[in-house]
Amino acid sequence: MNLHEYQGKEILSQSGVRVQRGIVADTPEKAVEAAKKLTEETGTKWYVVKAQVHAGGRGKGGGVKLAKNLDEVKDLASKIIGMQLVTPQTPPEGKKVNQVLIAEDVYYPGESDPEEYYMSVMLNRGQGKNMIMYSPEGGMNIEEVAEKTPDKIFIELIDPGHGLQDFQARRIAFNLGLSGQAFKEMVKFVKSLYNAYTNNDASLFEINPVLKTSDNKILAVDSKVVIDDNALFRHKDIAAMRDTREENPVEVEAKEAGLSYVALDGNVGCMVNGAGLAMATMDLIKQAGGDPANFLDVGGTADAERVEKGFRIILKDPKVKAILVNIFGGIVRADRVAQGIVDAYNNMKGEIHVPIIVRLQGTNADKAKELIEKSGIPVHFVTEFQEAANKVQEVLKDKAHA
Ligand code: GDP
Ligand code: MN
Repeated sequence: MNLHEYQGKEILSQSGVRVQRGIVADTPEKAVEAAKKLTEETGTKWYVVKAQVHAGGRGKGGGVKLAKNLDEVKDLASKIIGMQLVTPQTPPEGKKVNQVLIAEDVYYPGESDPEEYYMSVMLNRGQGKNMIMYSPEGGMNIEEVAEKTPDKIFIELIDPGHGLQDFQARRIAFNLGLSGQAFKEMVKFVKSLYNAYTNNDASLFEINPVLKTSDNKILAVDSKVVIDDNALFRHKDIAAMRDTREENPVEVEAKEAGLSYVALDGNVGCMVNGAGLAMATMDLIKQAGGDPANFLDVGGTADAERVEKGFRIILKDPKVKAILVNIFGGIVRADRVAQGIVDAYNNMKGEIHVPIIVRLQGTNADKAKELIEKSGIPVHFVTEFQEAANKVQEVLKDKAHA
């Protein structure tokens, strides 16, 4: 699950990481109130108005602006709230901004020369360790730094069993060229950031930029945080931060129905049980000259209700030209699934306008075949993988000619 910048900063702050402080607002009036309150709390004179969307590169897209007084806060907030923000990380049509973070200005333009660093914590799967990636070249696109000056990117691997060691935190501060007070601040920053990552079961904490102010404070100006969905059950407070407005609406609907669904770009909808079979099915579709339109795992109980929900979700995607159901009857018997498909089909009469290929294997596969054939519903029933691939190819060809 992705978090907004302001939510990530809340978590960081609770873990003892110094952050650029701010207050979130969803109307221009509240933005002004937020700015007033922020000045009471921090003494800041200027403010940064920052669009809160699940995408980076907001600065480049006009979603991060400096305001020098309350009128400017109001003006900028009214421009940014409601806009479609387009950044290099959003879809081409952009993302709608529902709220802004009114943050204290920590750069004091004209008065100082702050330094920007990059830092992220994530899992290094290859090494089976956590990893802190950091660079003295912060603020800009890290992919660009990696391409042009790869020697400016450093990596510290952390054994999850031992945790981050003091010498590692010091090495990071040293490699960033710090000394004195800033060095000490950075050591504390790194330790607290690593704790935030492990204590919250995150899969990513990315801070770009980490700022060194003119008075040698180290703080997080931005935050991109991803929390492992499988751990959310033990972080109720974080789970409550979910902003479904930022997510694909069909994926949200599927999740609510207990289906695991990921939208893709292709033309063949897939309904599968088990992630491994889903992967294999997607390969199969590719080999047959198609492209998967989605990943949909109906899980262990493929009954009529779930199959119907699955069909409905797949058919919301107008790109779908055919549906391949590929289910292995292990715990769930194939004939039960077949009955589910027949019932769902009959319930949805008139709503399904694309060919359906059903491959059922496993327990009672022969009964399943009989059931589907007797029902008279117009689906192509196959039992073998290759047959399924051929059938997909055939119906796509027919569609192309039609
Ligand atoms: P991103 O573009 O989505 O990564 O958003 P960031 O939160 O990183 O902000 C983008 C840029 O805005 C930063 O790299 C800074 O250059 C600038 N910025 C952020 N906070 C301040 C601030 O307090 N004062 C000034 N002057 N600039 C800021
Ligand atoms: Mn940033």
